[in-house]
Amino acid sequence: MKKSIANLPSFATVEEVIKELRPGYPVYCLRPEELKRQAKYFLESFPGRVLYAVKCNPHRAVIQALYDAGIRHFDTASLAEIADVRESFPQADCYFMHPVKARASIQTAHQVYNIDHYVIDDAKELQKIIDTTGGGEGRVILVRIVTPVHDSQYQLSDKFGISAEEAPELLRQVHDAHFQTGVAFHVGSQCRSPQAFSDGVKTALDVIAEANVPVHYLDVGGGFPAWYEDDQPPPLEDYFKSIHKAFEDNSLRRDCVLMCEPGRAMVASGCSLLVQVQLRKGNKLYINDGIYQSLSETLAGKFKLPARLVNPDRELSSNSQDFTILGPTCDSIDVLPEPFHLPDDADEGDWIEIGQAGAYTNSAATRFNGFFPETFVSVDAPPLLPTA
Ligand SMILES: *Cc1c(COP(=O)(O)O)cnc(C)c1O
Repeated sequence: MKKSIANLPSFATVEEVIKELRPGYPVYCLRPEELKRQAKYFLESFPGRVLYAVKCNPHRAVIQALYDAGIRHFDTASLAEIADVRESFPQADCYFMHPVKARASIQTAHQVYNIDHYVIDDAKELQKIIDTTGGGEGRVILVRIVTPVHDSQYQLSDKFGISAEEAPELLRQVHDAHFQTGVAFHVGSQCRSPQAFSDGVKTALDVIAEANVPVHYLDVGGGFPAWYEDDQPPPLEDYFKSIHKAFEDNSLRRDCVLMCEPGRAMVASGCSLLVQVQLRKGNKLYINDGIYQSLSETLAGKFKLPARLVNPDRELSSNSQDFTILGPTCDSIDVLPEPFHLPDDADEGDWIEIGQAGAYTNSAATRFNGFFPETFVSVDAPPLLPTA
């Protein structure tokens, strides 16, 4: 069998995967070329430094594809993520972007991995970093702030972030402790409004002006959208323009670095999920993956993913209908909230390819009920995208 990126078995098409493996288990079909294309797009078009948010999809082959495309900076939230990235890529630059960290994690990040960038949203967290690392000396602390709410699928400011009123004082404390300073925010995941980012930048600039200390980093976070069926926000270019314009209107020192931390928009299209129908009952299809495994976001975020029925062994019906899709666990909430529109003769043994499955799928899967998808292959064929 041909091997490709990160030693994954490699196939020309999803049909070839099926012919070779006949999988009764879910298979993640990575599209390394699509991952690289999207990473290069960010690197070439975002007007600043691009970090990849590892939590979105930490699989080694995904990181490898992004690294091959030129991504060198990684937004990590735990010691495990830092260790994973650095184990494979000793030259990678990891940023410790969780606002609440165990002291032992800070100490290990500092001593073992030489991590230079940390995020805080509270003065007590600053003290923890001073206690464990001994203070500034060229290291960077970004203060995460709350920004105005716009149309995002998930709000991430409910849990983390200091108010714009309190942030200047915290920035001054960071500066006084001899760290380089930065301001960070996150507008929420799957954000449908470019203006959310420019409003965020404006809020950050107000905080910086008020703090009146030198600021070296402005981090606009993640939240850039991917396309789903029925959810097709403006192109990423509009977001980059909006950010660039707001950032240019500033009186900051010229060496202030603009950064972003995309997860979803960088990797969603770079992987599809191949599942198998285990039983049909009327218009219900029972499949081998569900909301406790790869498809939790269909419930939490109400995302409707593109899907197609595949069976290289037979001719599929040209009439189609809606099917309710049920996951494998014994819990009755394990049902996708949106139906899939598939050929009306779909039945046991057929496969369904589900697209836009690169973000928050394998990274969010549990082992509940003994079902755990863990098979990855690489596929050359183009990704399965939503119908525009
Ligand atoms: C989750 C997260 C990201 C990535 O968010 P996406 O919506 O996937 O782009 C980036 N930064 C931080 C701090 C996060 O928590």
